[in-house]
Amino acid sequence: MNAQDIRSKFLQFFESKKHSIVPSAPMVLKNDPTLMFVNSGMAPFKEYFLGNAEPKNTRLTDTQKCLRVSGKHNDLEEVGYDTYHHTLFEMLGNWSFGDYFKEEAIAWAWELLVDVYKIDKDILYVTVFEGSDDADNLSLDTEAFDIWKKHISEDRILKGNKKDNFWEMGDQGPCGPCSEIHVDIRTPEEKAKVDGKSLVNQDHPQVVEIWNLVFMQYNRKANGSLEPLPNKHIDTGMGFERLCMVLQDKKSNYDTDVFTPIIREIETITNTNYGKNEKTNIAIRVISDHVRAVAFSIADGQLPSNTGAGYVIRRILRRAVRYGFTFLNTKEPFIYRLVEVLAQKMGEAFPELISQKQLIENVIREEEASFLRTLEQGLSLLDSIVETTKGKEVLGSKVFELKDTYGFPEDLTDLILREKGYTYNTEEFNAELEKQKQRGRESSALQSDDWTILLEDNEQEFIGYDRLEAQVRLVKYRKVTSKKEGEQFQLVFNLTPFYPEGGGQVGDKGYLEAPNGDVIYILDTKKENSVVIHISKNLPNNLNDSFKAVVDVKQRFRTECNHTATHLLHQGLREILGTHVEQKGSSVHSKYLRFDFSHFSKVTAEQLEEVEAFVNARIAGKLALQEQRNVPMDEAINDGAMALFGEKYGDTVRTIRFGQSIELCGGTHVKNTSDIWHFKITSESAVASGIRRIEAITNDAVKDYFETVDNEYVAIKHLLNNTKEPAKAVLTLQDENTALKKEIEKLLKDKAKNLKGDLKAEITEENGVAFLAKQIDLDAGGIKDLCFELGSQYSNLFLLFGAENDGKAILSCYISKELVAEKGLNAGQVVRELGKHIQGGGGGQSFFATAGGKNPSGIAQALEEAKNYIK
Ligand code: ATP
Ligand code: MG
Repeated sequence: MNAQDIRSKFLQFFESKKHSIVPSAPMVLKNDPTLMFVNSGMAPFKEYFLGNAEPKNTRLTDTQKCLRVSGKHNDLEEVGYDTYHHTLFEMLGNWSFGDYFKEEAIAWAWELLVDVYKIDKDILYVTVFEGSDDADNLSLDTEAFDIWKKHISEDRILKGNKKDNFWEMGDQGPCGPCSEIHVDIRTPEEKAKVDGKSLVNQDHPQVVEIWNLVFMQYNRKANGSLEPLPNKHIDTGMGFERLCMVLQDKKSNYDTDVFTPIIREIETITNTNYGKNEKTNIAIRVISDHVRAVAFSIADGQLPSNTGAGYVIRRILRRAVRYGFTFLNTKEPFIYRLVEVLAQKMGEAFPELISQKQLIENVIREEEASFLRTLEQGLSLLDSIVETTKGKEVLGSKVFELKDTYGFPEDLTDLILREKGYTYNTEEFNAELEKQKQRGRESSALQSDDWTILLEDNEQEFIGYDRLEAQVRLVKYRKVTSKKEGEQFQLVFNLTPFYPEGGGQVGDKGYLEAPNGDVIYILDTKKENSVVIHISKNLPNNLNDSFKAVVDVKQRFRTECNHTATHLLHQGLREILGTHVEQKGSSVHSKYLRFDFSHFSKVTAEQLEEVEAFVNARIAGKLALQEQRNVPMDEAINDGAMALFGEKYGDTVRTIRFGQSIELCGGTHVKNTSDIWHFKITSESAVASGIRRIEAITNDAVKDYFETVDNEYVAIKHLLNNTKEPAKAVLTLQDENTALKKEIEKLLKDKAKNLKGDLKAEITEENGVAFLAKQIDLDAGGIKDLCFELGSQYSNLFLLFGAENDGKAILSCYISKELVAEKGLNAGQVVRELGKHIQGGGGGQSFFATAGGKNPSGIAQALEEAKNYIK
């Protein structure tokens, strides 16, 4: 069965059990401070488990892109070395939200594996949670145990500890006991030697877990305690690539058709063979795995960068480049060339790989090239470190500096040093690394207390589309402390007019007013999952009061002008540059807007003017806002609304329409485009290969801009004697300036020529030497030219010129080569010795040398003593 079929069989099976098939959520998470990437199938459904949102069906099934490269679940270092852990993998799942529980979950898992996929049940083992006698004090999951007994012989049911059989997404959140299903795919000979039972959960490459059925019944709180969830849920996750390995009768995920096409391509490009040599194998596995992670992430809108999620992606790609560089001898970008096969192979299930192929390739190629340059630079730095090292051990601090300042990875340093017969001090290196980590922890440490709940069971409502003021009650609050912001409070209200930062738009500011008139400022508003959090420096005195919550109207309005303008800009860019333009990032502030989009060349000045005119025409057109809430997603898309990759949408969406511009958008907007008054682009630049950035301003900011420009214009006109045509006047000035420069050049040349004639007349003959020592009025370059011109006419010339320039003294000495040879004279020595009079030093060659000094009054004395040299 090929991978495609295996995937669809899974989804169809659960569809037949009344599940709705839903698409994979984007891999990169926004609005979740506890998690950077989706690391398991359940992450996108967290809000359903916590009861903060409702799914459209209590039974869902999907295949979810997961990335395990940071935080609690981090498999990065395993990847490539073993044959069954990936960075990016698909997790097939079936979900019950307060619907069926253990009975059906277990029965269906068994039915699918044994009856549908026809896996021999004699290669299967299952586990149940044995309980824990720690603070959680949980007992054996007898419920699961008894259900399993109906399907599988008891000696194949193993009891497992908390590490393997109690599933937690992170330090906080929904969790519960689980039952894993393992396969033993060893040969009969191997099985005869060692019982499979003893290999379960022992990291054996052919006795591996394929499916985990999690019985979600608790919520882990920030203080570490467990509380029962209001409803019990099922969360299952089956590793798609591992399932393919079993069903395709392979011993490694990399031998399935998920990976073989990519591996074949790597072999062709790098002229290597997979399966011949372990180092090569590891490198090929690393690369074939990492290109998937990076490509999917870029398709989801997360480009490699220097911070946060972008940095994780950059590190993954660099790991791949490094393995290629070291073990496959690849010195040119090549990983981007694998995107083609990947898109062919997986594009059907994940169409974003096809639609964004060019961008993915460009970004990867550029990253590769830049990291390869880093590697080259690192190699030469490493050479010079080795040269200056006494003994055979390089300082750990040097290796750290290579890594920290130049981005040159320590394992590569280690490898190269070994080849040269060197080592480095790892203790010293680790100490430096620890120091750096400590600095990082200190600057970013954020500590949050548990929530204090004031109103139980209070769903909160956002009313900020319609109102900017409301009477609100405090539902819960907590204190958070960070190095950067100090102590702050996070407040949650029963309803709120404050827009939380999201969709690129900044969060609202404003204030809370207590009945007695006391005021507390809201500094920012953010969203954590679906909860709106208001940030303040203080708490109200009486927490149970009803408060007047007031949004800062001015800031909100300016932000809205910029948000609406962003939509018009997006429309304009697609109209003028073409429909390949796709939003790649947007940041809407009260003072300006920033819009990143895919486009493969610089936007010309004419195009920018056109775009500006396009937007301003729509502002002048007085287009009214048409907002629709709760539109079914398909309907909105059919209407022509644009959905963004990497954005997570619900089943129903909100659409914002101004004339022909229709976008899915949760942000706030002006009532009419005429509110924007005017739109002005302030800059256009590149952000990454194939991605451009436009910054622009609207309304008051444009007024300020015009005022500044106008003031400047008036000042310029004034300087130009209030001429009516300043630009023309400047042109005239420029022309005049050019003419004057030419004239000066000519005059200087003439002067030098005259000077040469005059000086020649002053040269005297003494002891067979043509001699002149004199102070002249030229700079060092002029003197040099003069020396060589005069020098070309003599074969016995000795010149010493002194000059004063900007308060500094120079002495230049010229001696014909013949004199140098005959009399052993040396210009360098002359200026060194005479240089003491001008309090300076210098040098040069035996026939020409110059000294500089800070005492011009010594020039005369130096010139005086020049004669001594030819006596
Ligand atoms: P393992 O112990 O093998 O690392 P796990 O306990 O971390 O697995 P779960 O968190 O329970 O796995 O995830 C559910 C399923 O997802 C696993 O049964 C496995 O099939 C798959 N899986 C987990 N991690 C990876 C990975 N890094 N690469 C590929 N598949 C994975
Ligand atoms: Mg794991």
